[in-house]
Amino acid sequence: MKDYTINTNCVQAGYTPGNGEPRQIPIYQSTTFKYDTSEDMGKLFDLEAEGYFYSRLQNPTNDLVAAKIAKLEGGTAGMLTSSGQAANFFAMFNICEAGSHIVSSSSIYGGTFNLLAVTMKKMGIDVTFVDPDCTDEELNAAFKENTRVVFGESIANPALTVLDIEKFAKAAHEHGVPLIVDNTFPTPVNLRPIEWGADIVTHSTTKYMDGHGAAVGGAIVDSGKFDWMAHADKYPGLCTPDESYHGITYAEKFGKEGAFITKCTAQLMRDLGCIQSPQSAFILNLGLESLHVRMPRHVENGQAVAEFLEKHDKVEYVNYPTLPSNKYYELAKKYIPNGGCGVVSFEVKGGRAAAERFMKNLKLAAIETHVADARTCCLNPATSTHRQMNDEQLKEAGISAGLIRISCGLEDKADLIADIEQALAAV
Ligand SMILES: *Cc1c(COP(=O)(O)O)cnc(C)c1O
Repeated sequence: MKDYTINTNCVQAGYTPGNGEPRQIPIYQSTTFKYDTSEDMGKLFDLEAEGYFYSRLQNPTNDLVAAKIAKLEGGTAGMLTSSGQAANFFAMFNICEAGSHIVSSSSIYGGTFNLLAVTMKKMGIDVTFVDPDCTDEELNAAFKENTRVVFGESIANPALTVLDIEKFAKAAHEHGVPLIVDNTFPTPVNLRPIEWGADIVTHSTTKYMDGHGAAVGGAIVDSGKFDWMAHADKYPGLCTPDESYHGITYAEKFGKEGAFITKCTAQLMRDLGCIQSPQSAFILNLGLESLHVRMPRHVENGQAVAEFLEKHDKVEYVNYPTLPSNKYYELAKKYIPNGGCGVVSFEVKGGRAAAERFMKNLKLAAIETHVADARTCCLNPATSTHRQMNDEQLKEAGISAGLIRISCGLEDKADLIADIEQALAAV
């Protein structure tokens, strides 16, 4: 098939109907699939043939949408998960086990921080958090003999740190491990981590990809570039026979391009579930069809709101990577030349109390534990998403107690700015 631009792929990739078939992706609302012979079905259980048998593992609707996301990211294979949390957990747990170690940027989503620092720790998987702005030496020093993966967010939620993906990819590859990048905020429309050396990309599709606050979901995309067999001692799950599938070796049978996603589906979906419902996948695809149209508008509104806030005398500081005053401006010019996303964070003068008063007076922007929605919403992370963190951990994650995160939607920027202006006047 001809290689189209990402704009066309947002609309058309993943599903090409045949003559007389439905124009829109069908929702395969079925838990199970029918076969003529036990032998036919047996081949699926042996991973000898491709096909579907039970929707806890795989569903055709999901796979069509996952194929689109894989295409957008420039990967070789993809899968959907029930949430972004499941995507990050599956992506890491697919190549980690008790006794493994993970190097992670400290500037990450609160849910992922808890997943790593609390839940995966209980499973015997250790993590070292590194400052994303650390030197090469500091980054290299975080690796251990049992390190199996490096993790970071392309644009961190909520700190809006821009990850130097090339730096993290280089360090990961020098230590013979892959880099996983959570690319939720910029989406592939604004940044494609695989082009900068990332090996696996994850998403909370709940955010911009869905874009309408309609369905929770996640996705994992494999670049197909990491050579598992070259590091077989580190990845026995991919490089030695899986007894639960009659002794197949994923990296041999499915190659670099397919091993990671096949194992993740065949083992983790089988044993842990966490599949996205086909209904949600259908809704997600509706969002993807306009992702390339919506992202520039989110960026336009974010930039306008950030510039307005920066000039306002009741505002302590504004954090938006594409403002020239921003610490990440140079990295932003490199990685997100067309802008990143519509999320802006800032601090109202007067700390937590002023922040609360500001938020209470907003009329268009609603208080929500959500970002990346068509409707503008805002949140104070210290009292919501990040409330499990102590002050020291908050500081490490780049969050102050009075920080407000505003996610600029698709409304008219003049109306958004007017709303913010009147709420600031009430402070
Ligand atoms: C929201 C979010 C997640 C978690 O996704 P859910 O779909 O809520 O499970 C993970 N990473 C980032 C960057 C997020 O913004």
